[in-house]
Amino acid sequence: MIETDIIIIGAGPTGLFAVFEAGLLKLKCHLIDGLPQPGGQLTELYPKKPIFDIPGYPSVGAAELIDNLMEQIKQFQPGFTLNEVAETVEKLEDGTFIVTTNKGTKHHGKAVAIAGGLGSFEPRKPELENLAFYEDKGVEYFVKKPEMFAGKKIVIAGGGDSALDWSIYLAEIAAEVHLVHRRNEFRGALDSVEKVQVLKDQGKINLITPAEVIALKGNDEKLEAVVIEKDGEQSEVACDYFIPLFGLTPKLGPIANWGLEIEKNAIKVNNALDYQTNIPGIYAIGDVNTYPGKLKLILCGFHEATLMCQSVYNMMNPGKKFVLKYTTVSGINGFDGTRKEAEKAVVKAID
Ligand SMILES: Cc1cc2nc3c(=O)[nH]c(=O)nc-3n(C[C@H](O)[C@H](O)[C@H](O)COP(=O)(O)OP(=O)(O)OC[C@H]3O[C@@H](n4cnc5c(N)ncnc54)[C@H](O)[C@@H]3O)c2cc1C
Repeated sequence: MIETDIIIIGAGPTGLFAVFEAGLLKLKCHLIDGLPQPGGQLTELYPKKPIFDIPGYPSVGAAELIDNLMEQIKQFQPGFTLNEVAETVEKLEDGTFIVTTNKGTKHHGKAVAIAGGLGSFEPRKPELENLAFYEDKGVEYFVKKPEMFAGKKIVIAGGGDSALDWSIYLAEIAAEVHLVHRRNEFRGALDSVEKVQVLKDQGKINLITPAEVIALKGNDEKLEAVVIEKDGEQSEVACDYFIPLFGLTPKLGPIANWGLEIEKNAIKVNNALDYQTNIPGIYAIGDVNTYPGKLKLILCGFHEATLMCQSVYNMMNPGKKFVLKYTTVSGINGFDGTRKEAEKAVVKAID
């Protein structure tokens, strides 16, 4: 049995930052993630992309942000159970919890923070006859290692940000990029659409709209071409990779059966207070939760993680009044959240 204060389900940015905020309050955390590495969507879906809306970073690579979060929480020595999915939760009579994974690993904690993001990542797949056969033989649903596409012929399908952004990125390293979309208009950001137009004019992207990939062709070993239908006519485009980027189907997975209030695939929480769910002691933070005005942004997950940790601190220390602390004053390790400690730290800082 793994013992901890807060069992965090999901090691995306929200779960990782929760470890830091908990650490400031001397609460120990253990993270569970179904993926083999921490980082959630950032590592799994867009590790090489720059993010522009993290306060204090004009631009930061997604993988770099996760590396920095890992560095920031190292000092609090969180535990990790990776490659295992949290399957069941049991509330004991004393109010503590046991979370068990699909591989039978048991975690005992005083609170549970679900930071499960989109849940398990299920790409939306086009309905093509031999699609499953060519998976890992040329059909890819994520661009995890862009370098593997260098010098290759690529067909990307989709009309959202992912399709546009990866077409732009791969146009610089691939031999050919064909972007196929069933409409003339794209759903993605305007400046991405404009960049694609520029790359099209430069001959770096072959834009095929309104059109659809209707069949895959190849041998037993690998994909060799796709068949595209445009204006009722069919043509074949030779390619090494076909990357359909039609978004992800959000799937909460086993968490959906835990008796939590769910709305549109997300967990309802009390956002006026502390992001607790309808089960006291179970919190939901980051992309996985919903409340009026919810925004699925990294910085919102950070804020929610902070309030969750303070609530757990109050729950574990009844009668002790929590006082907001500044890390500039108290540092990282010299504070236990009480007024006495805060005053001591301020005096020390003034001295
Ligand atoms: C292409 C793209 C670009 C984006 N760009 C930006 C941006 O510029 N700025 C911004 O703020 N946001 C951006 N986002 C959104 C941002 O990635 C999310 O808001 C963020 O990842 C949410 O973090 P999280 O930790 O809540 O969840 P996630 O990152 O989704 O992590 C959740 C983790 O929980 C795990 N998990 C789920 N269920 C279980 C279970 N039962 N057991 C074990 N593990 C489980 C998953 O495996 C996953 O690792 C972007 C998203 C995408 C897809």
